[in-house]
Amino acid sequence: MNLSRRELSYLLVIKKYNDQGQLAKLSWVAKQLNISPASAYEELSHLEGKGFVKKNRSGIEITDEGKKAVDNLIKAHRVIESLLVEIGFSPDEACKYSTQFDFAVPEEIIDRLHKYLGEPKRCPHGEEIPITTS
Ligand SMILES: [Zn+2]
Repeated sequence: MNLSRRELSYLLVIKKYNDQGQLAKLSWVAKQLNISPASAYEELSHLEGKGFVKKNRSGIEITDEGKKAVDNLIKAHRVIESLLVEIGFSPDEACKYSTQFDFAVPEEIIDRLHKYLGEPKRCPHGEEIPITTS
């Protein structure tokens, strides 16, 4: 299932706290994203409905499904960047344009593009391209 950019920003904040060994608090997420706790709550309920996060009284946790969705979108972003640089865009232009449609490109196309490009391990900025399994 594809993630929107906005959903990605939520998942990345939650994952950051989880990676530090703690559950994310609603108020922290709202503050990090500069939005009201009410909007954050609404979006988190939506993400929970999609199975990307789990909420309980002590905080919010990203699920394996959520992590997979994050990796898929990051991979899509970086594969498209690699392609755009290949056809003559600068890395910064490639990043800007990729952000506009990376979330909409089906996983299968990204996988084929990745192969087509010779399975690069890093994007034009030197960031690692996640290895995903579908
Ligand atoms: Zn980028």
